[in-house]
Amino acid sequence: MDAQEILAQLPERLLPWFAAHARDLPWRADREPYHVWLSEIMLQQTRVEAVKGYYARFLAALPSIAALAAAQPDTLTKLWEGLGYYSRVRALHAAAQQIMAAHGGVFPSDYAAIRALPGVGDYTAGAIASICFDRPTPAVDGNVLRVVARLTGDMRCVDDEKTKRAHRAALAAVYPAGQCGLFTQALMELGATVCLPNGAPGCDQCPMRDLCRSADGGWKRLPVRREKKPRRREELTVFLLRCGEQTAVRRRPGTGLLAGLWEFPNVPGHLSAQEAIAQAETWGAQPHALEQVLHRTHMFTHVEWDMRCCLLRCGATPEGFIWADAAELARAYALPTAFRMFRDIE
Ligand code: SF4
Repeated sequence: MDAQEILAQLPERLLPWFAAHARDLPWRADREPYHVWLSEIMLQQTRVEAVKGYYARFLAALPSIAALAAAQPDTLTKLWEGLGYYSRVRALHAAAQQIMAAHGGVFPSDYAAIRALPGVGDYTAGAIASICFDRPTPAVDGNVLRVVARLTGDMRCVDDEKTKRAHRAALAAVYPAGQCGLFTQALMELGATVCLPNGAPGCDQCPMRDLCRSADGGWKRLPVRREKKPRRREELTVFLLRCGEQTAVRRRPGTGLLAGLWEFPNVPGHLSAQEAIAQAETWGAQPHALEQVLHRTHMFTHVEWDMRCCLLRCGATPEGFIWADAAELARAYALPTAFRMFRDIE
């Protein structure tokens, strides 16, 4: 059996398996494009369990594309707080406004029009077009690439665009008419729950086992991936400037990492206690006690922050910062996880 013949067996094997084993996920309750779109964007680089709460809160606050389009940017970043990759929510907002302006508020059903929305790539467009509109458009993410590479014993690097295009085309050719959405979800499900990325896949439970070219241990070599560059490490001194019950925050620049979000004041490098006090004095905060020094690290995709956090009791609330008490900080200011982990330190 050649590779394409193996893939041609997927629909009749996977669909009954999916009917019996599909996880009950909130975004699978219907095929409303707004719901599928939102869930696919949230699930990028993020675990299913972490997304569930955010998904429910986001839809409760913004139940329609019109409500999303009309939302204030600060409302959106607050709803996204802690989920990471904040450019996703800015793109969602821009796309909702585009749907209102160019499509009369109705989510487009055509693949090319979906793909043209801000923040929507081949994977997301394929997922929405197949799940919501029954189009034979594969949604090829890391999970699906892994399944296809292992099933067919394909040694091409799955990080190469050419390989992705080839796998997408091979899958598109076997999509079952009338069940495109279920097939997309079944492929994703197999990759997410059986043909796992780390450690041994569950070949014993796999409906493709007898046809798979990697079930005998070949999965250890597949998929072939490009070597990742190590993360750049940056040192940072973060200041929790406390005056009475209030803590200083400021907004980050409008471009770059964590653009436009809130942060505790910080400077590059690891400052000594004396240097930290001197820095707070230059801000006019009149520091009188360095109460705690904590170390934390936070990973981004390409950067690792090595953070030294100094809790300083201060006698003044200089301009240049917003001074907020604990309740206000929690309610009104979207702090990314890198800073939020210091928020509740007493
Ligand atoms: S048999 Fe094993 S390696 Fe092959 S697709 Fe199924 S889980 Fe993956």
